[in-house]
Amino acid sequence: MIESPREPASTPSLSVRGFHLNFESYQRMRVDEAVRLMEVAASVRMNVLLVEYGPRFPFESHPYLRAANALTVADVERLLAEAARLGLEVIPLQQSIAHLEYVLRHEQHAGLRERAGRDNLLCPTHPDVMPLVKSLVQEVMSRHPKATRFHLGGDEARKVGQCSRCEPRRRQLSVGGIYGGHMGDLARMVLDNGRRPIIWDDTPCAFPDALDYLPRETIINYWDYIVVADPTPVLIPRMAHIDGAPRVVHDWRWMLPGRRKAVSEVQRDVMKNYSHAARLPGALGKRYLAEFGKYLGYAFPRWVRALPYLEYYQDRGFDVITSPTAMGNGDMVDGRPNIARLEANITTHAKRCKENGRALGMITTAWYNMPPELLVDRITLSGRSTW
Ligand SMILES: [Zn+2]
Repeated sequence: MIESPREPASTPSLSVRGFHLNFESYQRMRVDEAVRLMEVAASVRMNVLLVEYGPRFPFESHPYLRAANALTVADVERLLAEAARLGLEVIPLQQSIAHLEYVLRHEQHAGLRERAGRDNLLCPTHPDVMPLVKSLVQEVMSRHPKATRFHLGGDEARKVGQCSRCEPRRRQLSVGGIYGGHMGDLARMVLDNGRRPIIWDDTPCAFPDALDYLPRETIINYWDYIVVADPTPVLIPRMAHIDGAPRVVHDWRWMLPGRRKAVSEVQRDVMKNYSHAARLPGALGKRYLAEFGKYLGYAFPRWVRALPYLEYYQDRGFDVITSPTAMGNGDMVDGRPNIARLEANITTHAKRCKENGRALGMITTAWYNMPPELLVDRITLSGRSTW
């Protein structure tokens, strides 16, 4: 490609500029459709592809896990060849503790559930769990011999460590220790295979002692699909319970007459649809404030610095990739995505990562089973805003 003389800066601001090719959510997405999205990404100089297969991976060690519409080995190889042609680094993702419905729904694995009757969370204390997860990770890794990073997932696992089998360890180690021990073992396996592990941040954010159990080479993938401005009135205090539940919050004084004129319409919609008024900072509790208070920005509690945990993870010694979403987290309008919110989410992430200066970069995620072409505009925006 010949660069036009009008092209902006010739070196990128962020070293990781990626998007999420999600074959699990996008159940109908074929490889040729994925390649079209990859071509869009390459045209805006993106360089990373986070590939999530779920049950659409062509598992050979556990063939019963394959969905009816699973990709073939040849499909995966074609995807990797196209990614190489387009200059896109592929980071494969294999879930390893939660979001494993396609494993736990099989009768022979039902005993591995953390909660009877609920089929998305593994019990990390069960002796058969780690060998099973390692074999899945190993197989996905083997199909991506050139991948230098590997995503272990690990999101939405807050309810882990609650079963009677886990109880003695929970009393000894806490939930963070159980989660961190499990993810830390897997991260070391990934490192032993010569790759850097990546995990989603939300469970360690709720149980920060989990970070003590992870090798420092682990990359924290910090997702926040709510933030639309920096600063923002809205805080996701994952570790704190507000009125007995984890909630997204803003300071109650934003409810006073006239106050919300200070924010954009998109921000007002987010406050209305996702966030609860709370008496900040007191409602967050002493433990939360001791851990995270200094990262919330000088104007807290009225304003919160966007993505406040970015510097927290860095200060704990970890590299960070942040993730906005091109499609996800509810808020559909007449069955179509709320474009204004999603675009503001992407540009806020990109701006914060650039200003931070040490973030590895940004990977824009994609959820829901939608026509993949609906992602094109936000892939383009992600590429342009991260250069
Ligand atoms: Zn358990």
